[in-house]
Amino acid sequence: MAQLSRRQVLKTSGLSALATFGITTASSAQKTVKKILVAGGHPDDPETGCGGLMALLAEEGHEIISCYLTRGEAGIPNTSASDAAEIRTKEAVTACEILGVTPYFLGQIDGSTEIDNQWYQKVGDYLQETQPEMIFTHWPIDTHRDHRVCSMLIYDAWLRTGQKAALYYYEVVSGGQTQNFSPTHYLDISSVREKKHRSCFAHVSQKIEGVYFNDHGKMEEFRGMEYGCPYAEAFVAHHQNSREYFI
Ligand SMILES: [Zn+2]
Repeated sequence: MAQLSRRQVLKTSGLSALATFGITTASSAQKTVKKILVAGGHPDDPETGCGGLMALLAEEGHEIISCYLTRGEAGIPNTSASDAAEIRTKEAVTACEILGVTPYFLGQIDGSTEIDNQWYQKVGDYLQETQPEMIFTHWPIDTHRDHRVCSMLIYDAWLRTGQKAALYYYEVVSGGQTQNFSPTHYLDISSVREKKHRSCFAHVSQKIEGVYFNDHGKMEEFRGMEYGCPYAEAFVAHHQNSREYFI
């Protein structure tokens, strides 16, 4: 009889979604509730890239922060930055309520994001204060500058806080934005796909519903095909993650 791969074992054993990432909460020595940070450039990036992950982990009782580098100030045509920020903040709060996660806004401006010493310090301080055990951020090779800035600020903060958390990268629109992304980990999101979609569509100003199934929807199906389930999200693990986390 052929041996089951570790991936197949994880898929069929009914373990927590965290098992996908090599984390078991079965041991009494391990804290049952994990704090997980998902960082994105704009309202809707954490949801479209990791909405399934966040929904599954929140349903399992973990503490999830959906962290936005900006409030999407440049994302609504013919609307002032302050009005757009207000509209998109509300949409992000609604999306987070649907997923059962907590929003946090880092305070940069959409379309004008920057990397400098002040921001390295600020994001480093935030990570130090928040102490997440897992971090998910944009894969850094991305056509959108704000996504690259988010990824690099989080990566720098992770380094400067001693690489204590397990760091993973996620994809947004692969091909269109995320590029050269070869997943190391997959998560079956079939059971929470509808909830993920509701959270994405809460970003009404972005008219995501009309285009979703031409990009993100196809990605969910394609990653599902790769993984052997109907719908999946995919991630890249940072190779310098602590052995405790990395498979
Ligand atoms: Zn974005």
